[in-house]
Amino acid sequence: MTAIQLHYSHHLRRSTTQPRSRPPPPRRSHHIIISSAKSQPHCHHHNLSSRTLRAAVIGGGPAGSSAAEALAAGGIETFLIERNPSGSKPCGGAIPLCMLDEFSIPLSLVDRKVTRVNIVSPSNLTVDFSKTLGSQEFIAMLRREVLDSYLRSRAQSHGAQLISGLFTDLEIPTSSSAPYVVHYNIDGSKRSLHADVVIGADGAHSKVAKAISAGSYDYALAIQERIKLPDEKMRRYENLAEMYVGSDISPDFYGWVFPKCDHVAVGTGTARARGQIRRVYNSGIRERVRERISGGRVIKVEAHPIPAHPRPRRVRGRVALVGDSAGYVTKCAGEGIYFAAKSGRMCGEGVVRASRCGTRMIDEGDLRREYLERWDGEYRMMFRFLDGLERVFYGSDEGWEALVEMCGDEYVQRMSFESYLYKRMVRGDWWSDVKMMWRTLGSLVRARMIGREIDKLNGLGRKLVM
Ligand SMILES: Cc1cc2nc3c(=O)[nH]c(=O)nc-3n(C[C@H](O)[C@H](O)[C@H](O)COP(=O)(O)OP(=O)(O)OC[C@H]3O[C@@H](n4cnc5c(N)ncnc54)[C@H](O)[C@@H]3O)c2cc1C
Repeated sequence: MTAIQLHYSHHLRRSTTQPRSRPPPPRRSHHIIISSAKSQPHCHHHNLSSRTLRAAVIGGGPAGSSAAEALAAGGIETFLIERNPSGSKPCGGAIPLCMLDEFSIPLSLVDRKVTRVNIVSPSNLTVDFSKTLGSQEFIAMLRREVLDSYLRSRAQSHGAQLISGLFTDLEIPTSSSAPYVVHYNIDGSKRSLHADVVIGADGAHSKVAKAISAGSYDYALAIQERIKLPDEKMRRYENLAEMYVGSDISPDFYGWVFPKCDHVAVGTGTARARGQIRRVYNSGIRERVRERISGGRVIKVEAHPIPAHPRPRRVRGRVALVGDSAGYVTKCAGEGIYFAAKSGRMCGEGVVRASRCGTRMIDEGDLRREYLERWDGEYRMMFRFLDGLERVFYGSDEGWEALVEMCGDEYVQRMSFESYLYKRMVRGDWWSDVKMMWRTLGSLVRARMIGREIDKLNGLGRKLVM
């Protein structure tokens, strides 16, 4: 979460979706080859009188599990294909408070409740960004292996059938009611199943997106080291998250130290200079926190892309993309878990509505209307707004300094946390907004002056060395 999420909440509407409480349909066996869908007549919106609609969800992360849960709970025959159910996605694991409630995630899954957030500028000015957090408020830190497996199990308890296999290819039907053929491997052996609807939730490297020619997106590459600290150093991160900005850390992202169950995750990312992520920027964040992590032992190094914007096409035929596969990560904050789960659920519920609980075939128009338009209506402006903020503040040390200075402002903090923690519309008052705008301009002017002074000192330093 970053302060530049400031005010995106102006563009958010409160969610109305709630977890479903329908009893789960009976379980069926895994790995069956479904062929009856082939024999359906070629017409739009025909009723599926003798069977229910079948959906294949590819990828069992937050997006896929939430989609599968909504589909299965809504009466759709649902298959969830995940290549590595015991794996852990490289991720900071920070989620907003509202997600615990909206997705009924038990507190026992939360490793750390972060109640203190420091933001550190290029000149090492540290701002306490958590001054306005209420006594019951926190940022939840989870391990992804724990969260993902919980969400998958819940989808199963509603009747989704988990297939532990690697999706390999999708055959696109030539008629509007013929099934998609989903190919996958289990332990090297080839399998396939037929599905009326396919949801691509297979992350940033999505093969489903490729199969429907959804187009590519720009992406940031993030690198993260999990470091086990000596006890006395770990105590500092009991409930503290740190965010570092500066051109030494990334030209267009931030570096982080996030507390996990028994270690810290230290990372950074960049879209503009991906080739330098390891040598320059990973070293940069390590250097900035050198004292704080000294004596620590690296237990894992992980790198993964983070989409920078949605794909050109997110629905084609009866295939829809959700989560990272669609490109739903806020650009400057790198927040994607909530949006993955939310888009998965929204898409699943859209299919349930359009198919009248699985009794009717759907088409591309249904997916556009029931999923895409609703999603864009709710979030498009917010994603654009964050893009704009990134352009103003990210990219130069002067911009970062201004941003950090602004983050010290309690009004900025209140608005940022309201929007991040609750994903809800916050009405700022216009006078505070005007004052904040002036303060922002002031920060930018001052930061540019500081930047020039730093440049002068650097120049002087170089001359002295020569
Ligand atoms: C280093 C890093 C740190 C991050 N930190 C945060 C953070 O703190 N907070 C936050 O909100 N977001 C964070 N993000 C972003 C977040 O991780 C993603 O936005 C989120 O995981 C998207 O969820 P998803 O379900 O769409 O995709 P994923 O979580 O990527 O899940 C995709 C699933 O599909 C499976 N899969 C892929 N291909 C196949 C296949 N061919 N067959 C079968 N299964 C397949 C994968 O195994 C995986 O389980 C971070 C990202 C990175 C890289």
